[in-house]
Amino acid sequence: MIHGVSPEVDFVPLIVPEIRGNEWKYIKECLDTNWVSSVGTYVDRFEQMIAERVGTKYAVATVNGTSALHIALIMAGVQADDEVLVSSLTFIAPVNVIRYVGAWPIFIDAELAYLQIDPVRVAEFLESSCKWDGECLRNIKTGRRVKAILPVHILGHPADLDPIIEIASKYSLPVIEDATEGLGAAYRGKSLGSLGDAACFSFNGNKIITTGGGGMLVTNNPEWAARAKYLTTQAKDDPIEYVHNAVGYNYRLTNLLAAMGCAQMEQLDAFVEAKRQIAKRYQESLGNLAGIRLPKEADWAFSTFWMYTVLVDEKESPINSRDLLRELATAGIQTRPLWQPIHRSKAHSSSHGTPCPNSDELYAKGISLPCSVGLTPSSQGRVIETLMNLMGNRNG
Ligand SMILES: *Cc1c(COP(=O)(O)O)cnc(C)c1O
Repeated sequence: MIHGVSPEVDFVPLIVPEIRGNEWKYIKECLDTNWVSSVGTYVDRFEQMIAERVGTKYAVATVNGTSALHIALIMAGVQADDEVLVSSLTFIAPVNVIRYVGAWPIFIDAELAYLQIDPVRVAEFLESSCKWDGECLRNIKTGRRVKAILPVHILGHPADLDPIIEIASKYSLPVIEDATEGLGAAYRGKSLGSLGDAACFSFNGNKIITTGGGGMLVTNNPEWAARAKYLTTQAKDDPIEYVHNAVGYNYRLTNLLAAMGCAQMEQLDAFVEAKRQIAKRYQESLGNLAGIRLPKEADWAFSTFWMYTVLVDEKESPINSRDLLRELATAGIQTRPLWQPIHRSKAHSSSHGTPCPNSDELYAKGISLPCSVGLTPSSQGRVIETLMNLMGNRNG
């Protein structure tokens, strides 16, 4: 039971997994055959399914999305004391992994139209705050080498990648897409995850498909793929002897979880369709409500609306985002704010960045509404009605 909510009201969670396919069947098969651990046909099959769907040559399964990002940075050659450009408005994982390799994040602000990393700010930083020293690009202020760009596609909508990739190639910077929230989405007709030098996905419980916990690194680079497999499996150099020529990681996904992943992947299109229907209904019902801005889809984008995040404008709305969140919680409707922008995070207070006023503004205004694949029309109706009452009541 959620604190403060009467047990009679039907609780509407923000986002819960949808398990209605072959999950039981495939997992049972693992249990029946004893193939439960870190190798097995489901691991291979899950990797193939993701690679095929995303449109990359290779996919390497990992224990979660964070570990995939960690390995991707190693593949990109990011080393201690390098700098990596990364979104400020994001879940913290892609910033933490930059510190895992001893490098430093450079925070880039979000644009206000689609809430994604702003390519104009990326270019501005690289062109005005850095200098080419004949071998590499250096941050003029810190003297550190700028080594990669890590754009995060947030909320199921793509970041505007073409200008980012263009400027990255001008300075030979690898682009690692954090596509953890973007499985099934596309940018100018291409699947997210297929545009950068490598990309990462997560199958955490709140993502569009889930394995309970899991991740994937995808790339077209055969050396990166082989090296990623090697490093995620303890860098074992001999099939029989325990011989290791590098420091590896135990970042493997188990066959048991990969089995669930295969079953979930079979339903991805249906899940995306359900999410888009939910978004459509919110749009139709809330489109005219004053003081609230609904998420948009760019004309170059195919969004999954993984999260349905609205912006509440305190100046035009009778209620601010946090009061709305609390009132909805009392009515048994779970919502949540966006992430504290990482340039504000104490965890990364010794990092540098560019100014990020938009991220601050979006953080103040944003709340995400219930958007589970299995959200019923009646539950969604209750969310819509409660929200309209809360905003309307205060108007009059
Ligand atoms: C979920 C998520 C991750 C990390 O995924 P885990 O599987 O939980 O490690 C990384 N980046 C973003 C943007 C995410 O939303």
